[in-house]
Amino acid sequence: MVSLSTTMRRLGIITVTNSAVVTPTLISSTASFARNLTLPSPLRNHGLTNSIRFLKSRSLLSSLSCFSSSAAYLPALDEFPSTKGSVAMRDDKKKVILKGMSYASLQEWVESHGFRPGQAMMLWKRLYKDNIWAENVDQLEGLNKDFKRMISEHAEFGALSFKDVRSASDGTRKVNKWMLQILFTLDDGLVIETVVIPCDRGRTTVCVSSQVGCAMNCQFCYTGRMGLKRNLTAAEIVEQAVYARRLLSHEVGSITNVVFMGMGEPFHNIDNVIKAANIMVDENGLHFSPRKVTVSTSGLVPQLKRFLRECNCALAVSLNATTDEVRNWIMPINRKYKLSLLLETLREELSSRHKYKVLFEYVMLAGVNDSMEDAKRLVELVQGIPCKINLIQFNPHSGSQFIQTDEDKMIKFRNVLAEGGCTVLMRFSRGNDQMAACGQLGMLGAIQAPVMRVPEQFRTALKASV
Ligand code: SAH
Ligand code: SF4
Repeated sequence: MVSLSTTMRRLGIITVTNSAVVTPTLISSTASFARNLTLPSPLRNHGLTNSIRFLKSRSLLSSLSCFSSSAAYLPALDEFPSTKGSVAMRDDKKKVILKGMSYASLQEWVESHGFRPGQAMMLWKRLYKDNIWAENVDQLEGLNKDFKRMISEHAEFGALSFKDVRSASDGTRKVNKWMLQILFTLDDGLVIETVVIPCDRGRTTVCVSSQVGCAMNCQFCYTGRMGLKRNLTAAEIVEQAVYARRLLSHEVGSITNVVFMGMGEPFHNIDNVIKAANIMVDENGLHFSPRKVTVSTSGLVPQLKRFLRECNCALAVSLNATTDEVRNWIMPINRKYKLSLLLETLREELSSRHKYKVLFEYVMLAGVNDSMEDAKRLVELVQGIPCKINLIQFNPHSGSQFIQTDEDKMIKFRNVLAEGGCTVLMRFSRGNDQMAACGQLGMLGAIQAPVMRVPEQFRTALKASV
């Protein structure tokens, strides 16, 4: 059941794997495995030793043991777990899931059981504040006995079951050359991935998933190949950030930023994403700065407008092309919401916002969207939109037809943008060695999303073998 292959060791990956059904034997064998883990050097060198010690002593065990047995697979998106009114319930047990509630709903729920609003705040703080991040009722120190009994009878703490943690690195010691990939099993046996990305200057980012798979079918994205399995609940989204905080709580920098750039299109699950983002920035809760919680979208225009009105978190838009012809092909959502509509909406919506910049992401695909004409067009397209542009190196994956733009060409592209007055950042791949990077998350099933017809003039730019 528990394995650490020599190949993985060579790659600097630690792995603790369990099946979907957690048994007492598995818990103890996994725990003893965890005690004997040898950390790969990137983890040791960047002070993660304490985190892993913490993982061994607390999170791993409690995450494994806090979770219930697996439920039958439920295909309909709105069936599982259901969200009734403002309170998320687990149907089988009629228990609320604490991390799926906004503070207002939590207070309403606490009062409906005859307790005071002040007790709701005490519970909220123990869930999200002061390094407590309670995972069970025993960790609710200082709360009244009757209140705790009511909570254990009517509520659940966890929405995710820890499955696996891996460190992806290229073997160097540079802080920006490795990342941590955490896999969680959901109640229905599906698996999601959360990635922790340490950056320079004490900044550490957790990249959360918002769906299992994705319906948008962007041609360069591995998650898109999976198609959509289901939306994540607000609790399942929030818990990814709580878990990452818990895991890295003893580290310098801890988790400072959240990006919704894992599996899924956040605006295709807008209700739960807005709810989760608002829980993350609540000042009595996880208290991330709204500027440091970034939701990334492929460009669902009506939902984008709603997001800007209902949430003050940061916005990223994956542009990835400068013409409708290319974008229609590589990002089929463009057939519904054209580049001009997307950009005009941003221009209008952001005109009245003070100091708010959208981050445009641009994945560079050799011979497809990386010409100097593209760079000049990009400068024109973003005129009048307060923005930064992030040029992203394409992360290849099995079966992908695209080729990475080389670094020299990326730099030339960047220079054209900078000369045109744009603020430009560049992001090179990391975590490639085990598919932990952007657009590489997920697991393909038997049925995959269709490959779109390639426009004639781009056929030579693609890999001949695919
Ligand atoms: N669905 C959202 C967020 C998840 S994807 C969105 O599309 O914005 C996060 C980012 O990864 C997007 O900017 C996307 O363009 C980028 N991405 C997808 N596949 C990639 C790949 N293979 N290599 C590099 N970046 C990729
Ligand atoms: Fe979905 Fe984003 Fe991947 Fe497109 S890039 S398929 S929207 S996850």
